[in-house]
Amino acid sequence: MTASTSRPRARASRRGAAARLRSASLRAALLLGYPIAVAAQEPELVQPYDPADCPPCAAWTEPHRPVHLFGNTFYVGTKGLGSILIASPDGHVLIDGGLPDSAPLILANIRALGFDPGDVEIILNSHAHYDHAGGIAALQDVTGGRVLASESSADVLERGTVGPDDPQHGVALPMHPVAGVRVVRDGEVVRVGALALTMHATGGHTPGGTSWSWRACEGDRCLSFVYADSQTPVSADGFRFSDSVAYPDAVSDFRRGHDLLERIPCDVLVTPHPGASAFWDRAASAPEDLIDPGACRRYVARSRRQLQDRLDRERP
Ligand SMILES: [Zn+2]
Repeated sequence: MTASTSRPRARASRRGAAARLRSASLRAALLLGYPIAVAAQEPELVQPYDPADCPPCAAWTEPHRPVHLFGNTFYVGTKGLGSILIASPDGHVLIDGGLPDSAPLILANIRALGFDPGDVEIILNSHAHYDHAGGIAALQDVTGGRVLASESSADVLERGTVGPDDPQHGVALPMHPVAGVRVVRDGEVVRVGALALTMHATGGHTPGGTSWSWRACEGDRCLSFVYADSQTPVSADGFRFSDSVAYPDAVSDFRRGHDLLERIPCDVLVTPHPGASAFWDRAASAPEDLIDPGACRRYVARSRRQLQDRLDRERP
């Protein structure tokens, strides 16, 4: 299946973005050394939750310079939360938006690479938790890009809160709602010009968890990229992966995703939490070191062990 997306001519209101970005833009500008006069024109950040409710958020939003990975593929996220830009002359695809605070950092990184955020045509998501989707509403407003997500994630993004079928229901923090999310299905190919990204349903961590794969080329040399969604069986107290009534497919979704991620071509693995796949260690010396066809298999092997441990603990 193929889903081509034409650029929405009627751009979303940028006033909403300004209201959400506010002081985070100023902070990002200061950290990244951008002109304060420009950033200071943006008003204060409105957080959809009390930052005190998210102890790891400060570390997750630590800025990081953008990194050219290979060909048309760039890391534009913060140090702790992945965001990937896949660029083309006909428009760009952006995967994941980090926290609300991450949006100005992601935008600054896109600009620092010489790209115009207004050329982001499509915004994709790994899973609809606040630490990977919290910045999407602001990014949508600023870029005018169309947001595409799995059916379950689309519901969560549009509502701004996870449903009772999410293992972290009750503890996952809220997000700014995202308007007009288009649903993509397992195996669907999302296209912008010559770009083609394949959607893979890899649930378990959330019901709508999604991984994305694409090819990036430099001359005749092409690499298979996989942005593999979080595979950790973590939950709110009381949730049981083994026999959840609200999410009865939790374990089978994990196993289906594991099988897929072990099977698909995977020269370069990137993950929503870079630390979960030792991304910065692998990227430390040269982008070439990121090429590791075993990385996807190791990522899955770790998740298989974590899931088995979890199921063992859930036994009466
Ligand atoms: Zn999550």
